[in-house]
Amino acid sequence: MELNKKDILSLTKPQLKESLISLGFESYRLQQVEDWLWKHGVRQFDAMSNLSKSQRALLEETFFIPTLTEDKMQQSNDGTLKFRFKLHDGYLIESVLIPVAEEDRYTLCVSSQAGCSLSCKFCATGQMGLLRHLTASEIFDQYMWVNAKCIELYGKPLTNIVYMGMGEPLLNYKNVMESVARLTSESGPHLSAKRITISTAGIAKMIRKLADDGTKVNLALSLHAADDKKRNTMMAINETNNLSTLMEALKYFYKKSGNRISYEYIAFQNFNDTTADAKNLIRMCSQFPVRVNVIEYNPVKGLDFIKSSEDRINDFAREVRKHGIMITVRRSRGKDIDAACGQLAGEG
Ligand code: SF4
Repeated sequence: MELNKKDILSLTKPQLKESLISLGFESYRLQQVEDWLWKHGVRQFDAMSNLSKSQRALLEETFFIPTLTEDKMQQSNDGTLKFRFKLHDGYLIESVLIPVAEEDRYTLCVSSQAGCSLSCKFCATGQMGLLRHLTASEIFDQYMWVNAKCIELYGKPLTNIVYMGMGEPLLNYKNVMESVARLTSESGPHLSAKRITISTAGIAKMIRKLADDGTKVNLALSLHAADDKKRNTMMAINETNNLSTLMEALKYFYKKSGNRISYEYIAFQNFNDTTADAKNLIRMCSQFPVRVNVIEYNPVKGLDFIKSSEDRINDFAREVRKHGIMITVRRSRGKDIDAACGQLAGEG
């Protein structure tokens, strides 16, 4: 990257149009350049073969294209793939591909920040602090890269995207929503927003904003404890966004958007897996339709939490299900390569 060059992927379509016109490009070139960048995911000007050589050289002189480079790929025994990418300024982020071939489901978990500022106690990313926000194109490029890999390995494109990797997506709102717009655009991969889930540790104000902005994506709340006292001890964000505030924001989101809401609930032994915890959770499922995913914990080195046993998780889920609540127990994927929930730290 040269300092006097502009990041072409950071430009909106009108900004790109203005730049191309000032460089003397014919107006129809705008769509060609946009297609190369956002439909085909081309990251070298030289590969834009329907532009003349001199136009490609002009683009090269004026702009740079920040690229992700694959730094490492690991495959789990269960088929889960973890990718570590190096950003153009050297920071490392991770993305995870979770294939469920029997159901024709290929889910990508993307990162929205390098590191995270929220320091949830059970999470490896949270121990890193926030390094920086990812740009929309850095989020988009995780999709492009892993989608190509998915097609190469399984002969199928990705079917779902979850913003559940490194970072808190709602604290990088503008770039996250821009990446969603690019991913769902007809002049891009044209994914259905119904296949995209944004997962948050719980920022009430931004949940309301999502609804006000008319988003079509699904929302997942990393709940993990259904009473404030417990949640405060492991998620500091709960001190300023307590459960009743979050419930009001989620109700608002549901009423306004009608989009799907789920709770993610990592089960920790003797912490949030008792009958009393199940009762608290049941209470929190009564205000709007919600699905619950109970997730097996993957111990993180240096952190104190213990995973619940399979029996305890099943008892917990049975208790909640008795009340007509949709609850699914998710066995961890990719735990042997530190690719499971809360384990992403750019290490290994
Ligand atoms: S769980 Fe999510 S919000 Fe909490 S520290 Fe980890 S990445 Fe950040």
